[in-house]
Amino acid sequence: MGNKEINFEEKAVPEPGPGQLLLRVRANALCGSERPQFFDGAPVTPGHEAAGTVVAAGPGTHTPVGTTGVVFLMDFCGECRSCRLGFTNQCLQKRGDMGFSRDGGYGQYELVHENIFFPVPDEFSAEATLLLDVMGTGGHAIERCQLMRSDIESLLVVGAGPIGLAILAMAKIVIGQQLKVLITDIVSYRVKLAERLGGLPINVRETSLSAGIHSHGLVQVDMAVDTSGKQVARQAAVDAIAQRGSLICVGHGEGITLKISPDIIAPERSIVGSEYFRYNELPTNLQRLREHRGYLSQIITHRMGVDQIQQAFEAFFFGCETGKVIIEQ
Ligand SMILES: [Zn+2]
Ligand SMILES: [Zn+2]
Repeated sequence: MGNKEINFEEKAVPEPGPGQLLLRVRANALCGSERPQFFDGAPVTPGHEAAGTVVAAGPGTHTPVGTTGVVFLMDFCGECRSCRLGFTNQCLQKRGDMGFSRDGGYGQYELVHENIFFPVPDEFSAEATLLLDVMGTGGHAIERCQLMRSDIESLLVVGAGPIGLAILAMAKIVIGQQLKVLITDIVSYRVKLAERLGGLPINVRETSLSAGIHSHGLVQVDMAVDTSGKQVARQAAVDAIAQRGSLICVGHGEGITLKISPDIIAPERSIVGSEYFRYNELPTNLQRLREHRGYLSQIITHRMGVDQIQQAFEAFFFGCETGKVIIEQ
């Protein structure tokens, strides 16, 4: 990848070493975090939202050949203080990040440590990738919201790209259908998709955030999640949060300027980070995927073959008229 062009390269099929599995990749979802790889290039095969089938297992593993499943992005050690407590998204000695520092899921094969592979029944095929950045990252952000307050009646999601849609969907599933989820974007395709998923849409190209919130019968919101990474959007979100509320930052990117007394101390607001998710959130999310498969699948708007990967990236990054885009092999 690089210079907005995707090139193919022959690579030897790796042999799994001790504790490793070799997967034949079946599907890999595109992600906004691949923008730098698409524009500037990557030293490894990208792709960090892979589903695949075990075709070879190294010494000391117990996963049978033929098992299907998904790959957790962070190659966590399993032994550090964070990992021992289950905070595998905060591993202190991680061995790498799949698709960023290690070969990922756009190749035919992916070599992974067994502890980052999560078995998923065959029947889910490409939809198994929903367990990663959609349900995983989305669900973790909702968990961070609930950690900050238990009485959430309204939530503002800034940005209706795949992660924004994921947070909307997981908020409805985890907190409940009665939750008012307001969701903003400047792309009308994405605003409409968010509305189909049960969100209260605000097109911030056409209206201000505060006018949009008023149009849905509210003055402020209990909590907000930013997926845009844009400073101007985060500032507006902080102003929209009521007392005791938090801004959960999921989208990496720009900064934020706060006036500590009026913005944070007096209203007891907080700014909280949310990074990916913990491996041990996967079993609960698999159960939720079983229960809400049809609803969640609406987030996947495009499925394309690996021969269409260039068009897939162009549609995702330039047209923005997509939800989640999946490359199937
Ligand atoms: Zn991602
Ligand atoms: Zn660790």
